Amino acid sequence: MIIACNENCIYQEEGVCKLNYATFSSGTPLGTCPYFKEKKKEEKNKDGI
Ligand code: SF4
Repeated sequence: MIIACNENCIYQEEGVCKLNYATFSSGTPLGTCPYFKEKKKEEKNKDGI
């Protein structure tokens, strides 16, 4: 099963959910996904600007 997702989630890759066991009976997972985990960006401004 392929789930299209554009959330900023650690399981999202190239617009597709890589969490294979994630299934959604209600259709779209966006906004209501129980598996959503925010992907943390490591690209912080070193100068604090
Ligand atoms: S776990 Fe949920 S929020 Fe994360 S990529 Fe998959 S469908 Fe999207």
